[in-house]
Amino acid sequence: MCEVFPEIKKKLGFGCMRLPMNGEKVEMKQFCEMVDRFLEEGFNYFDTAHGYLNGESEVALREGLTSRYPRERYLLTNKLTGVYFDKEEEIRPFFENQLKWCGVDYFDFYLMHAQNAKEFVKFKRCRAYETAFDLKAEGKVRHVGLSFHDKAAVLDQILTEYPQVEFVQIQFNYLDYDDESVESRKVYDVARKHGKPVLVMEPVKGGSLVKLPEEGQKIFDELNRSEGTKMSNASYAIRFAAGFGGIRVVLSGMSTPEQMEDNISYMKDFRPLNERELAAVRRVTGVFKGLDMIPCTACHYCVEENHCPKDILIPDIFACMNSKNVFHDWNTNFYYNNVLTAGHGAAGDCIQCGGCERVCPQQLPIRALLKDVAAQFGK
Ligand code: SF4
Ligand code: SF4
Repeated sequence: MCEVFPEIKKKLGFGCMRLPMNGEKVEMKQFCEMVDRFLEEGFNYFDTAHGYLNGESEVALREGLTSRYPRERYLLTNKLTGVYFDKEEEIRPFFENQLKWCGVDYFDFYLMHAQNAKEFVKFKRCRAYETAFDLKAEGKVRHVGLSFHDKAAVLDQILTEYPQVEFVQIQFNYLDYDDESVESRKVYDVARKHGKPVLVMEPVKGGSLVKLPEEGQKIFDELNRSEGTKMSNASYAIRFAAGFGGIRVVLSGMSTPEQMEDNISYMKDFRPLNERELAAVRRVTGVFKGLDMIPCTACHYCVEENHCPKDILIPDIFACMNSKNVFHDWNTNFYYNNVLTAGHGAAGDCIQCGGCERVCPQQLPIRALLKDVAAQFGK
């Protein structure tokens, strides 16, 4: 059967939102080595957005990828994010800058970023979709799609109003699959009903499916023992997502060469989970469902696209809270204090302005959660 987007060579994409860092800058030597390995193994899909690493992701891609390889060796995806425009006239100058920042003269895929009911209203008011379709007609974008964070009914509305949208990027992982708030499965079904290929983000739910609670870890350890394998926790999550029909790419936000090697090992010649592996995944999902976890994916939108007046490192603080409540790490108080160094605010410093909640794709009640954290950690 002829696959859509045949230019995508393999089902693993390099999500460039969590690159190796040296302070505020990307650690370029390591990033270049990772780019080289990725391409050498036959992968070719790279994903960025201007908000990733405060613009440094785009610059790193220019220095580490686009200036070092011929244009046909890679596919580059970028996104139009709502915080960077307020009217139609501001979209094209922003887009032209994105081309410059990335060092290319077209993007293979261009997404209306983080669409939900509220963002969609703004994108329509500013004729963002129409502008993107014009850019496609001009050859500056090969394919127009959207990334999505809302209920299935909202996606249905968008795809009905804009049938020209060619693909949909969704949050899809075994924990969110049947989750009532994320609706991964229902959102996937809507995309397929409209005949759209699907790209997956957050296959390991911001790392939550890598470091498992003890009971979950035991399940995969036992599976590996019985199968005589040493598959990583990430492998089960990524292969789960990649195994569904119509999924063209699963993005992995790789930060280290070790993560990349792990991802390459099972995505180079991808095979879907077998029945025993799927059964283990279902049991691990059951373990998670019994826990009280903050479902933060560590996307950092709340700290990079919103400037918290108290400079509170929200995802780091939520990670401490999860470590304390889910993994019972004995030293989370120490980690919590580390998060507060360099003038960063504590959970209790939140002035409840709500800026972070406006950009959180998971629609988390961040203010209320920070109050819980402050009560737990005493500040
Ligand atoms: S609500 Fe609190 S955490 Fe969120 S941006 Fe405002 S001060 Fe920062
Ligand atoms: S709180 Fe929301 S915006 Fe902030 S990192 Fe977590 S999921 Fe992302």
